[in-house]
Amino acid sequence: VLSVKNVKKSFGDLEVIKDISFSLEDGEVLAIIGPSGSGKSTLLRCINLLETVDGGQITICGDLLVSDPQPDEETKDEVASGSKRSKKGKAVKKPVYAPKDQLRKIRLNTGLVFQNYNLFPHFSVLRNITEAPIRVTGMEKEKAKETARKLLQKMGLSGKEDAYPCQLSGGQAQRVSIARAMALNPKILFFDEPTSALDPELTGEILKVIKELAAEKMTMVIVTHEMAFAREVADRVIFMDQGVIVDEGTPEALFTSDHPRTREFLGNYY
Ligand code: ATP
Ligand code: MG
Repeated sequence: VLSVKNVKKSFGDLEVIKDISFSLEDGEVLAIIGPSGSGKSTLLRCINLLETVDGGQITICGDLLVSDPQPDEETKDEVASGSKRSKKGKAVKKPVYAPKDQLRKIRLNTGLVFQNYNLFPHFSVLRNITEAPIRVTGMEKEKAKETARKLLQKMGLSGKEDAYPCQLSGGQAQRVSIARAMALNPKILFFDEPTSALDPELTGEILKVIKELAAEKMTMVIVTHEMAFAREVADRVIFMDQGVIVDEGTPEALFTSDHPRTREFLGNYY
C-alpha cells in the first residue's frame, strides 16, 4: 500500500534524508527506530506531504504522490511548504507533485498521530474527532458523531466526549488523537513517537491500543524509542541513522543483527 523510492530531503546544506527506499504491505506493521536526529520524523512528514521532498517517488494505495524531477524542470512552480532556495545561478530541480486532489487523497488515506497529541484545545473531545469527517468528506453530523462515539468506546474513553483536551491525562489525550486519526478510516496510520511524552504507566495504555489495532490488521508505521514494543508489535523493523536505512528485517533478525552500527545503537537499550 505504500512505496517509497530513493526519497531525499535536505534543509539547506543539511541532508536529512539521503536515499530512502522501502515498501509496506497491506496489514503490515513497520517500526522505524534510530538515534535522535536521524531523520525519522522528517521521513514521516515527507510521506505525508507535510514536507516537500528533493527527489524520489512516493506511492500510496496505487497513487503516485511524488515523482522525480523532470530533467529540465524549472524552479517556478511553488509546492506546499517549499523551503528550497535556489543556489546562485543554478536552477534547483524540484520534484513534480501530483495534482491537488492527490494531496486530498493522502489526507483521506492516512492518519497521523504525533508525540504531543496536537488536539484542538478549544474543541471538545467529540468535536476533535468529528471535525475532519464533517469538513473533509462532508459526512453528516450525526453520522460523524456516531462514528466518533464508537471510536471513543474502542479507545476506552466513552465518558469523555464532552471533555476538553486540557482536562485529559496525557494517555487519554493520546488515545483521543488516535481516535481522531482513525475517524477518516485511513488505510495507513503513522505514529511519531506516540508515547515519548508519557510516563511508563500511560505509555502502556497507548501501546495496548496500538497492539489491538495491529491485531485487527491495521497497516501502521510507528516511529518509536520503545525497543521492546517495536520488537513485540512490528512485523518489520527499519533502523535509520544519518538519513539512511542502515539495517532492516524482522524484529527477530534486527534485534539479533550483527551489523556493528545496529549493535551499537541497541546496546544503549539492552
Ligand atoms: P528524534 O528522534 O529526536 O525525533 P528524528 O530522527 O525524528 O529525531 P528529525 O526530526 O527528522 O529527526 O530531524 C533530522 C534532522 O533534520 C535534525 O538534524 C533536525 O535538526 C533537522 N531538521 C528537521 N526539521 C527541520 C527544519 N524544518 N529545518 C531545518 N532542519 C530541520
Ligand atoms: Mg522525531
